[in-house]
Amino acid sequence: MNLDVNTLFMVTIYVEAILGLLLLFAWAQNTQIYAVAWWGFAHLIRAGSIVLFGMYGSAPDLITIDLANALLFTAFAVTWTGARVFDGRPVEPVYLVTGAVIWLLVCRLPVLAEAIETRAMIASAIITAYTWLTAYEFWRGRSEQLVSRWPAIFMLFAHGALFLLRTPLVTLLPWSPTNMYGSVWLTVLSFEALLFTISIAFILLAMAKERTELRHRTAAMVDPLTGIANRRAFLYDAGQMAKRHAVNPKPTAVLLIDLDHFKSINDRFGHALGDRVLEMFTDSARQSIRSTDLLGRLGGEEFAAILYDTTPDKAFAAAERMREGFARIAQDVGGRPVCATVSIGLVHCEEAVLDVPELLAQADQALYFAKENGRNRVEVASLDMILQRQDREEAYAAPRPTAAQSAA
Ligand code: GH3
Ligand code: MG
Ligand code: MG
Repeated sequence: MNLDVNTLFMVTIYVEAILGLLLLFAWAQNTQIYAVAWWGFAHLIRAGSIVLFGMYGSAPDLITIDLANALLFTAFAVTWTGARVFDGRPVEPVYLVTGAVIWLLVCRLPVLAEAIETRAMIASAIITAYTWLTAYEFWRGRSEQLVSRWPAIFMLFAHGALFLLRTPLVTLLPWSPTNMYGSVWLTVLSFEALLFTISIAFILLAMAKERTELRHRTAAMVDPLTGIANRRAFLYDAGQMAKRHAVNPKPTAVLLIDLDHFKSINDRFGHALGDRVLEMFTDSARQSIRSTDLLGRLGGEEFAAILYDTTPDKAFAAAERMREGFARIAQDVGGRPVCATVSIGLVHCEEAVLDVPELLAQADQALYFAKENGRNRVEVASLDMILQRQDREEAYAAPRPTAAQSAA
C-alpha cells in the first residue's frame, strides 16, 4: 500500500469538516442533546489542526507543530467534554484546555526543543488520556442501556491504546525522526486517524439517535408519575404474555386494583398528596409481586397486575399482601392521617388461552363486589359474578321498549 500523505491530509481535512458540519446539522434538528454540538465542534477543530499540520515546511514550526498539536488535543478534549455533557455531567473548563496548555509549555522548554521522540511521547499520552477519559465517561453512564455505547467505548479505548503503543512501536520499526513527514508511519497513523474519526462520528450520532428514540418510547409507554407501565404498555405487555402463555400455558391471575375514596383524599389533603399516595401504592405493590409479574397503571387511581404461573392460593395471598401492605404504610403520609386503602378484584385463569380483556372484565366485576362489600378487601371473581355481569350486559344491550309498547 502506498498512500500519499498529502492526499491523505486533504481527504482528512474534508472528511473532518464535513463530519463536523453534519453533526452540527443533526444537532440543529434536535437541539436537546447538546453533546452532538460539542462533537461537531471537535471535528471542526480537528480539521483546523490538520490544516495547520499540512502547512509544515511553509509556515513556522510554532504554527505547524506547536499550535497544530494544541488544537488537536483541544479537539479530543472537546469530544471528552461532549461525553460528559451527554451523560449530564458538568463541563470542566480547566481540564478542557489542560492538554493544550501542557503541550505549549512543553514546547517552550529548551530541554525538549530537540527531543522529538519525548515530545511525540507526550503528545501521544495527552491524546490517550483524553480518549480513555471519553471511554470512561461512556462507561460511567452505562446504566442507560444504549447498544451503541459499547462500540463507542471499545473504539475509544482501542484508539487510545494505539496512541500509547505508538512510541514503543516506532522504536521497533523503521522511523526517521528527521524525516517524520515522509515516513510510512505517518501514512499508517493518518489512515487510522481517518478511519477512527469517521467511525466515531457515526457511533456518537447513533448514540444520540438511540437516546432520542429510547426517550420517545419511554414517554409513550411509562406512566410519568409512578414510573410503571401505562395503560397502553400494560395491554401490550399483557398481549405478549398471552402469546407466551399460548406456547406454555400456566395458571395465571389477573388483579384489578382501585384506590378507595381517592377523590375524598384529594379533596381533604390536596392533589399533591394524592399523587404521593399513588407513588406509595406503586412501590408497595411492586414489593408484593414477583419482578416477572406485570404491573401497570390503567388510568387515574386504577391499576392492574398479571401474575403468570401461580396457584389461586398464591395469587390471593399476593393480593392480600398488596392490600394489607398498602393500608399499613398509607395510614400516615407525611404526618397526615390519610388512611388510604385499596379494593382488589381477582380472577384466576386455568385455561389454555389467556383472554386478557375478558379476564380484566371479570376482575372488574370482582372489584365492584369488593367496593360493594365495604372496600379495603380482595374479592375473587366467581361464576355467580360472571353470570350477574352477563345478565346486566344483556339487559343493557336489549332494545328498550318504546313508549307505545310500555303503554300497551
Ligand atoms: P371509590 O372508592 O368508589 O373508588 O371512590 P373514588 O373516590 O376513589 O373514585 P372516583 O372515581 O370518584 O375518584 C377518583 C379520583 O381520582 C378522582 C380524580 O380526581 C382522582 N385522580 C385521578 N388521577 C389522579 C392523579 O393522577 N393524581 C391525583 N392526585 N388524583 C387523581
Ligand atoms: Mg377509587
Ligand atoms: Mg376508579
